[in-house]
Amino acid sequence: MLTINEIFYSIQGESTRAGRPCVFVRLTGCDLRCSWCDTAYAFHEGHKQSVDEVVAAVERHGCPLVEITGGEPLLQEDVYDLMNRLLEAGRTVMLETGGHRPIDRVPAAVVKIVDVKCPGSDEARKTCWENLERLAPHDEVKFVIRDRTDYEFARDVVARYQLDDRCAAVLLSPVHGELDPKTLSEWVLSDRMPARLQLQLHKYIWSPSTRGV
Ligand code: SF4
Repeated sequence: MLTINEIFYSIQGESTRAGRPCVFVRLTGCDLRCSWCDTAYAFHEGHKQSVDEVVAAVERHGCPLVEITGGEPLLQEDVYDLMNRLLEAGRTVMLETGGHRPIDRVPAAVVKIVDVKCPGSDEARKTCWENLERLAPHDEVKFVIRDRTDYEFARDVVARYQLDDRCAAVLLSPVHGELDPKTLSEWVLSDRMPARLQLQLHKYIWSPSTRGV
């Protein structure tokens, strides 16, 4: 069984697949408390569903792209069965993880979007650094940037782990409403940073607090 916060069909707002229709499966529960977290409602709210029921709910949307997110989806053991079942059903499966749980048991075909928490999140010390050695070429690494300190931290991690060579994209996402995307753009351009600025598209299409989008 899984504890599911919500399953919905929307526009992918982040990653290199931003803009594409996608079914989102949000799992309940997280063992981090990032200072800028925008999904705190997923910490506790949820209902039990079997893997079969979740797969059926995803299939009803008839969409080839699925993202499993949270909360922290790797906290629930049955998420591995869910990923395998969705792959067997022919879906492209993305997994968004906070980066503090090992990703070594995630099926190889799953596209992992792995966060590296910056100091401004107040959770940087929890990072599982081994994950950066386990990235597949199709994976992506995301830094949420609150300020210049976070940016310099991200820049150093990208260089130390040569992340632009290890994975499909390094994503830099400014904290919505706190760091002006123009400022982050200027830093990226000035440093010729091998990264991709991303805005959370769904927060511009709908209001930043709208759920289920
Ligand atoms: S890992 Fe994600 S869900 Fe958990 S506190 Fe951080 S932003 Fe929120």
